[in-house]
Amino acid sequence: MTHAAFQHRACYVNFAEHLQNTWNPNLYYPGAPNRWTLEEWRQYFVMLRAFGFTCFEYWLPPTLMDRPALLGGGIYAEFAATLCQITEIAHTVGLQAKYIATVNTIGPSWYFACPNEPADKQLIRDLWRHWAQALVGTDIIGIFPGDPGGCNRNGCTHATYIELALELSGLIKAANPSARVEVGTWGTPFTGWGTDMRATPGWHGEWELLIDEKNNTPETPCHIWNGDQARAEAAMTYFLQRLPAFPADTMVAINLGFDSECFPTLGGDARPYAREIAKTHAITSWDYALAEGELLCYPHWRLPRMAARRREERAAAPYLGGMSYTMTPKLNVLSQYAAGRFFQDPDADPDQVSQAFCAQVFGDAQLGELFEAFEVVPGWGHYPRKRWSKAALCRAYTELIERLTGADLSRCTLPLFPEPEYYRQDLLWFARQFLKMARPDPDREEIRQAYWARALAIYDVIPMSVDKRAELSARQFSQLLAGHLS
Ligand SMILES: [Zn+2]
Repeated sequence: MTHAAFQHRACYVNFAEHLQNTWNPNLYYPGAPNRWTLEEWRQYFVMLRAFGFTCFEYWLPPTLMDRPALLGGGIYAEFAATLCQITEIAHTVGLQAKYIATVNTIGPSWYFACPNEPADKQLIRDLWRHWAQALVGTDIIGIFPGDPGGCNRNGCTHATYIELALELSGLIKAANPSARVEVGTWGTPFTGWGTDMRATPGWHGEWELLIDEKNNTPETPCHIWNGDQARAEAAMTYFLQRLPAFPADTMVAINLGFDSECFPTLGGDARPYAREIAKTHAITSWDYALAEGELLCYPHWRLPRMAARRREERAAAPYLGGMSYTMTPKLNVLSQYAAGRFFQDPDADPDQVSQAFCAQVFGDAQLGELFEAFEVVPGWGHYPRKRWSKAALCRAYTELIERLTGADLSRCTLPLFPEPEYYRQDLLWFARQFLKMARPDPDREEIRQAYWARALAIYDVIPMSVDKRAELSARQFSQLLAGHLS
């Protein structure tokens, strides 16, 4: 049964510079691996459409939101040309295309431009206009506050972001009249703006200095995500006042709650604001870490929580829809399938959805139960349903390996991307690594190197991201289950 809500169902592929990996498309590092052909993009979109998505969403990453983009040429022009083709393919298979960009995060060094500095403000305006024109077929353009991004210099507050978003909305509409604007409230809300950002002495917008932990205080334990309840109320009140000035068809991305996992009871309840905004504007959710987190790549299984969140949203406010995020579109195929299902039927049973997927792909519904054994990695959005002993994990991984090895892929009835055999080999690889780490005395350095080679080798030939995320990821992967109950 398809529920009338959630008509807008976006799959957000975050291929930003710090989240590159084997299962993510590489769109702006020529000569490096993980390039997808246009035919592969078409196959991917056919799969998303079959899974029930209506929109392909991506981040126009900071590397491309940089001054040289304005001169044309290079990776900037190549990216624009490719994304225009990809957008056309999306349209052909019945998907919309949407990009989001953080409003003031500039270049690969993640410089936080200040809207209250005239030269920075001009750069922000020029870049937003440039990309709105360069990606003219885009259906929805999302203005995102930060994370990374934001500013507390020169008197910047949440109101600065809201005014900037308003100005950029007009600029987007002028450059691309058919595009619809989506304003993001992400965070506490409007992460990184004003007092949400920690005061950092001598800071002029540099990422490296902003994240230096020596500047943390008990009141501001992180560089952003420090907004309190009073700030949330002031910010949302101001936003509601200014909302009528935005283009009439503006969408507002607002989660159930203002913390990083969108809980309605922690970090401030957003539901009353969502209901208020929905009286005049379409609202969408942007619940980032629901299907997978950011650091480690592995086959996720968060289906019960994904379904529950859709039911909570349905009960809370008349959402037009939402998005499901992935940084591993070629690996987390089951999560994408399930996300599409739960948008259409929030009451679908997670175990049945998992089994139905595995029956269709592998001819083996039982595999759908075993996937849950992968969801043992602590991290963003990790709320496991089961507590596993190491012995139980060993049994589950062993059975996964046996069943995957014996699966008959010739009767796969889903239009899978990647090919079922490619998918099976990756699942087998992860099951074997997890099995090694569930057993006594694994060679963790060997596992770190194997994970790097399998997942992150692209960073051997592209610049390490400014947050050095990939190196941390490989170290953490090699330590999985190290402190786990035996
Ligand atoms: Zn500023």
